[in-house]
Amino acid sequence: MLDATLAFLIAARCVACQQALAAPTRGPVCADCWAAVPWDDGPCDTRPRHVSTLVAAARYDGPMRAIVQAFKYAGHQTLDVPLARRLSDHPALDLRHIDVVVPVPLHPWRRLVRGFNQAERLARHLGPPVLHALSRTHWTPAQASLHADARERNVQDAFALARHVTPGGRRRLRGMLSGARVLLVDDVVTTGGTMSACARVLRDAGARDVRAAAVARTEKR
Ligand SMILES: [Zn+2]
Repeated sequence: MLDATLAFLIAARCVACQQALAAPTRGPVCADCWAAVPWDDGPCDTRPRHVSTLVAAARYDGPMRAIVQAFKYAGHQTLDVPLARRLSDHPALDLRHIDVVVPVPLHPWRRLVRGFNQAERLARHLGPPVLHALSRTHWTPAQASLHADARERNVQDAFALARHVTPGGRRRLRGMLSGARVLLVDDVVTTGGTMSACARVLRDAGARDVRAAAVARTEKR
């Protein structure tokens, strides 16, 4: 009843296909579009360095591309729940063997402008405890605007252990990461350069295993 009233009053449209939503209370994506997003099978062939497996829930095209863009840029932050569920339900992602989830950080300025870090929003719905272990040490151009080799150089030294996340600072953080099985989470993965740079910091801090997961992956260019 509520859905019928809302559908009539606000004429909400699906962010992916632009058709009128039959059930606006169930989120900004229609059931057909969710159903049209295929699983990305198994772990990805490309494996970033310092990462033991990389899993992506789907390819970054079709409805998934529109859904991720609506999540990041168009204010549909509530998409964090269904997107995280797509990821946590992935057959190749076994969260039982993860001690801690670490989101890929945004530069503070970018986070300020966007108002949130999409990776953090995804991480908090996966299940295991979230540790904001990383920070971006310098501003890097948006990855999407760069070619593959430039992306690698762009992010190589862009991450460090976060300084202020725990009262004991980096020493306490190293203690928490020591021997831990970590899942590194981002929204979209392309070359894996960002994942690789983050994983190296986590390994240097003593993490026993670093796996990586993203809701979508783009094809290599
Ligand atoms: Zn749709």
